Formats: sequence, C-alpha cells, structure tokens
Amino acid sequence: MKAITVEPKKPGTAKYMDIPEPNQGEGSILVEAVAVGVCGTDVEIVEGKYGWAPHGQQYLVLGHESLGRVVDPGPTGGFKKGDLVVGIVRRPDPVPCPNCAVGEWDMCSNGLYTERGIKEIHGYMSERWRIEPEYAIKVDPSMGILGVLLEPATVLAKALEQIVFIGRRSYWEPKTILVTGAGPIGLLGALFAKMSGLEVHVLDRAETGAKPDLVRELGATYHSGSVLDIGFHPDTIIECTGVGQVIAESIQQIGANGILCLAGIGHGGANRSASVADMAAAAVLRNIVIFGSVNANKRHWYKAGQWLARADRAWLSKLITRIEKPENFMSALNRKPDDIKVVIQFSDI
Ligand SMILES: [Zn+2]
Repeated sequence: MKAITVEPKKPGTAKYMDIPEPNQGEGSILVEAVAVGVCGTDVEIVEGKYGWAPHGQQYLVLGHESLGRVVDPGPTGGFKKGDLVVGIVRRPDPVPCPNCAVGEWDMCSNGLYTERGIKEIHGYMSERWRIEPEYAIKVDPSMGILGVLLEPATVLAKALEQIVFIGRRSYWEPKTILVTGAGPIGLLGALFAKMSGLEVHVLDRAETGAKPDLVRELGATYHSGSVLDIGFHPDTIIECTGVGQVIAESIQQIGANGILCLAGIGHGGANRSASVADMAAAAVLRNIVIFGSVNANKRHWYKAGQWLARADRAWLSKLITRIEKPENFMSALNRKPDDIKVVIQFSDI
C-alpha cells in the first residue's frame, strides 16, 4: 500500500511510497484512510526538526489528524464495517507513570509516551491503518470529512476543561475570552468558547480574508494588531501563536484573577518584550495563572466529538480551505497565506 513517510531528523526524506500492509500488532480494527489533516508538527517533522521512527525502522508514516472508514472491525465488539473513526494520537508510556496508569496520558510525567505519526509509532497517512478498539473514536457519519477536525478539537476540549478546573480556585465568573491566533486551533477555540456562552474575541495578524470573516460569522469580535489595544481586560486568554511578544502582552492585558492558557509552540524570537521578572510581578500582583496545555485524553476526545457534532456544519466546513491528493503531499505541507486547515484525502467519503 502507499503511505507518506519520512526519515525523522533528515530533511528532504519525505516520500509517497509503497510500504507493507499494517501490522496486526497495531490493532484489531482495519481502517481505510479517508483523510488526514496537516498541521505545523507535520511540517516540522518533514523539515527534519522533530519526530522519531519506530524502534528498528528507518521511516515513520506521517500523520496524526486522522479520519477513516472501518474495513474489518475485528473480533472485539463496538465497531462495524463502514463506521467512520478517528484514531487517538498518544499511547501511554510502558512503565507506566501514575498519569498514564489512570488514562491521563496527555499528562504523562516521564515523557516515555508514544504518538502516532510523531513519536515511535506509525501515523495515519497510509491507504490503510490498524487501530486498537480502545483508541478508536467513532464519528457521527453525518459529519463526513469534517471528522478530520476532531483531533485539533481535542486540544481545545482539554484547554477549556483545564481553564474551568483552575477557575475553581476562587470565586470566578468569566465573561470574556480572547483567543490569539486564528489558525484551526484558535478558531475551534473561539467556536467552543462561543458555544459555552462567553463573549469571544479573536486576535490575529491577518486584516482581511477568511479568518476575520469566520470570526464575525461566529458572532465574535475580530482584532488585528497588539493585544494591548483590544480595549478590555479578558477574564481568559487562549494563546495559540507561541510568539513571545503576544504572550508578554497577554500577561499585561489579562484581567485580575485571569487565566492564560498557552497552547501555541514558538521558538526563540526577538527579546524586545518585558523581562521575565516583570511578567512574574504582573502575574503575582493580580493572581494570574499561566499554564501550558498539550495533547488530550479520551475524555477530551469524547467531549470534542460532542461539541463538533453540535456545531454549525457550514461554518466548520469553511475551516478546511484546501484538499490535496496524497501524491501532492508536499503541496499540502507548503502553507499558503489563506490556508486554515489543509487536508490530504485518501479516498472518497
Ligand atoms: Zn506516562
């Protein structure tokens, strides 16, 4: 079968090539790939900056934002031929650490977890893949190709859950939320925050195009420019850009007792923003919580599925701005200015 593979840490090694059929050991359910979303992590892996092949193998099958159709449900109940499924990305570490032992692999404390398409286990960018029943999530068939948005949605389901947990440390009635960065994660965050009844604001560099339109269609307010100029002090911020200056300004602008969730991953950057000590002082004096959030456990996958199923399908479909064939995977990985979510489609839905 064909698969999109890469030799991790070696730039220029990504290819669409023939590999053996998926190994029975990868799970009792055999799935035909429908579509796989592309994200920044895939780009980093292809650029040789990240990723690990399975032990003893040269290549890694790429892809962690899956959608597939069950071909053979295997002996375990719960799935039938034709079901649309999405595969969970992370697997608990083998030790396991206490978090993995209780199913909270998103909070793995020893770093020995594995991740499909990223860390030591093959991903979903192959014509067929296998999965264990306990790591397959059924998608409402009426969602169609929008099921490919489930994985990015889980990141927000976790982030919003963590914000609620942290909010319980005191009397707290959040009314406003700012989302920085209007990529797929930011826009899904804005959607779920709106569905939760919050007054939603989104900030991004783009001044025109699909991003501001999508934000306004949600009934949310769009800002471009500095966080310091938004004109209010948000109760909550979900930071999806990973840009140092945006993070520093978010700490300055957030309201007293505010919760700042860092969900974006950045690198370096110019150190022109305020010092760490000044940021810490701002956090101390106003009881601000700054926390990082990554990945998701099964509870978040379930919640994200519920949220997506209730969301406006017409709006969701506008998040998928480009669909490419597997052989054109390099084009899918090359970001264009108007891209929100690019999807590689393996078979008809
Ligand atoms: Zn662990």
